[in-house]
Amino acid sequence: MNDVRELIVIGGGPAGYTAALYAARANLSPLVIEGFQWGGQLMITSDVENYPGYPEGVMGPDIMADFRRQAERFGTEFVTDDVTRIELGERPFRVWVEDVEYRAKTIVIATGASARWLGLEGEQTYQGRGVSACATCDGAFFKDCELIVVGGGDTAMEEATFLTRFARKVTVVHRRDEFRASPIMLDRARQNDKIEFVTNAVVDEITGDGKVEGVVLRDTVTGRTWKQPVRGVFVAIGHDPNTKLFVDQLDHDDAGYLITHGGSTATNIPGVFAAGDVQDHTYRQAITAAGSGCMAALDAERFLAAEEGHEGTALTAPRPEAAEV
Ligand code: NDP
Repeated sequence: MNDVRELIVIGGGPAGYTAALYAARANLSPLVIEGFQWGGQLMITSDVENYPGYPEGVMGPDIMADFRRQAERFGTEFVTDDVTRIELGERPFRVWVEDVEYRAKTIVIATGASARWLGLEGEQTYQGRGVSACATCDGAFFKDCELIVVGGGDTAMEEATFLTRFARKVTVVHRRDEFRASPIMLDRARQNDKIEFVTNAVVDEITGDGKVEGVVLRDTVTGRTWKQPVRGVFVAIGHDPNTKLFVDQLDHDDAGYLITHGGSTATNIPGVFAAGDVQDHTYRQAITAAGSGCMAALDAERFLAAEEGHEGTALTAPRPEAAEV
């Protein structure tokens, strides 16, 4: 068992690393239990074009390595593994990675969200054999093939557009005839000659023999079904929060997103804060996740300072040698 730390951050994405950066600069010596697959959702993204400060864009894994390095520079420690159990009933809070226990006065939960699946039998059978939720990871395996992308949001448009680098034809299958995607992303996909749209349609079945060979689609208005031969099915229908470890201890909404209070990152347990996609199903951007990670560190620092009987200033006071931005 380790000593009681000031702060443990759970999760290694934009929110977690930003919380760690701010906390480390406030001398809270944070430990980030970043997950075995650290880096979060940007690790499976290619070009990030909308993170301010990168006018030419940046590769997802590169920006995450930068986030991590910046937190490390100020003394953040990392455990590159998954939390297996957490006990928030009394302080210090207790966090386990297998049989190693860590204890802390405050916790920032920044475990993010994960891709959602359609729930079809074929999805499991053919995962890695034609079914994927990550075009940037698997797109290159489908040179000159025909593919479908399921979904009508920005992810579906982004994945479809990206997949045309490899595929001969990409069909976007969407269950309605209106799109959730932003106009710019939708237009980009619509202007791409290799992309076709099938609306008011769902996937009933994924067929194949060892690997994906086709899908059965169903028109949701007429009920008509038809077979479409494809080699790949990319599912892009949104995400679920990674809150399995916490839902029986922290307030959450019906979808499992943690609830934070009063315009802050405070959860219903004093000293436990939540940042990033794990508590945000509205904005879900790297920049908003990073912003709320910063808020969580400020909230944790002020919480600790208030407990010690004085107001915290460490995070907001400029360092003499480097101006805050
Ligand atoms: P969204 O929740 O925005 O969209 C999910 C889509 O999948 C919707 O069209 C939804 O249909 C459909 N869907 C959900 N469940 C099912 C199902 N069971 N069967 C069939 N279709 C289903 O998720 P995204 O991942 O697209 O986007 C999440 C957030 O990330 C958004 O805020 C988005 O703007 C952002 N983003 C931004 C990008 C960028 O700017 N570069 C890139 C990617 C994402 P329906 O519309 O009918 O509900």
